[in-house]
Amino acid sequence: MSLILPLLAGAALMTAIVALRYFAVSGTMAALTLCLHPIAGPAPARRRAQVQREIAWSLLAALIYGIPAGIVGALWQRGGTAIYAGNPHGIVAWLALPASALAYLFAHDTWFYWTHRWMHRPAVFARVHAVHHASKPPTAWAAMSFHWTESLSGAVVVPLLALVVPIHVAALLTVLTVMTWNGVINHMGWEIYPRRWVAGWFGRAVITPSHHHLHHRDYRCNYGLYFRFWDRVGGTDRGWARELLADRVAEPAA
Ligand SMILES: [Zn+2]
Ligand SMILES: [Zn+2]
Repeated sequence: MSLILPLLAGAALMTAIVALRYFAVSGTMAALTLCLHPIAGPAPARRRAQVQREIAWSLLAALIYGIPAGIVGALWQRGGTAIYAGNPHGIVAWLALPASALAYLFAHDTWFYWTHRWMHRPAVFARVHAVHHASKPPTAWAAMSFHWTESLSGAVVVPLLALVVPIHVAALLTVLTVMTWNGVINHMGWEIYPRRWVAGWFGRAVITPSHHHLHHRDYRCNYGLYFRFWDRVGGTDRGWARELLADRVAEPAA
């Protein structure tokens, strides 16, 4: 009984934080999109209905993400997780910050790539993943627009890692920030990074909006979340959606 109330409070608090973070970041980037890159897409009424659907599914996802995150937060306060805090002492402790953040991102990316690929099998797609692809083209509000079964699959990875793989709380917050940032920008329908970044080592290693946009356009390619590694290994990397780079000085080669 003594643990149930803190767990419930943690889950409610994290759900509120995830939802508020979603409104703040998606709302800002949706407004920026309206100003900088208004899309000649579906009629306004259809667009409005699509955004309403994206927000409704995303709020359900906030609850599904918030519950395990809140439970881990409550356990952390009781020393029951692998999350630690305090000033790092020594070079190894400092190097552990980026190393653990990268390890978390890579683990999440690995899980996402293979489950995402599996969700594109016709029988699974209709039941699980069609919700995310119902947005044509997606908007910044589609960052967490997933069917609840898909949200469940995405919500458990980082909390489970936090129980067993040591990570500093600052590195964990960095991971959550990257997760939010990528989820929003990759659905805006325009490339936010400069051309030389997309064409350089960054765009060759990291998934940028024009990379994930091609997944929403062509479906059976570019399944990754953060890195292009698994798409390259799995033979599913098809480079960028060229139309998002059309306003750039020159297109990078894939
Ligand atoms: Zn997507
Ligand atoms: Zn997909």
